[in-house]
Amino acid sequence: MPQRQATEQHTPDYLPIRAGETKSCRQCDPCKQGLEQYCEAGHTLTYASHDRHDQRPTYGGYSEKIVASEKFVVKVPDGLDLAGAAPLLCAGITMWSPLRYWKVGKGSKVAITGLGGLGHMGFKLARALGAEVTLFTRSPGKEQDARRLEADHIVLSTDEAQMATVKGRFDLVIDTVPCVHDVNPYLPTLKLNFGCRCHQYSRHRCRLPAHAEE
Ligand SMILES: [Zn+2]
Repeated sequence: MPQRQATEQHTPDYLPIRAGETKSCRQCDPCKQGLEQYCEAGHTLTYASHDRHDQRPTYGGYSEKIVASEKFVVKVPDGLDLAGAAPLLCAGITMWSPLRYWKVGKGSKVAITGLGGLGHMGFKLARALGAEVTLFTRSPGKEQDARRLEADHIVLSTDEAQMATVKGRFDLVIDTVPCVHDVNPYLPTLKLNFGCRCHQYSRHRCRLPAHAEE
């Protein structure tokens, strides 16, 4: 098959890869909808993946050069600090997507579980949108981090008494904990009829109660 020529010359600029993808089939239904992360043929990640053309492993930030479809690169605006821009490309869009999908804005009440890279980014974006943000943490040791971020509320999710104080409070719960865990304690903290607004980013499936799967 003939190789296509790139339609634009990008070399002088910094062109980070969008959300960790470099290629997808661009033919299947998800690709045609712009949802390449669900490519039925499998998308090619910048790291821990294999190039779809030569099957060589991809090394992400350890690479000296990366070849990507131009569809998957974005230009960093002039003047934007590169170190600050980098987290926006993967963690940023991962958190931005549910916040915008559920129209989070001034007056919204958002809870975030987990205070790693995704959680930090989700907190900052939700606050910037004007939401009141509560951080759930399972470890008292993370409370200092949460206080440094100036979270509106910090709730120790292993403490039933603290969890009872936020029952029916949130418009959206974003769960960023990257391991198998029980999401059931968080569901009652959602407002009535907001049961589907729990976004969970674990790489492993989690079991939901029957009423939440309806
Ligand atoms: Zn595809």
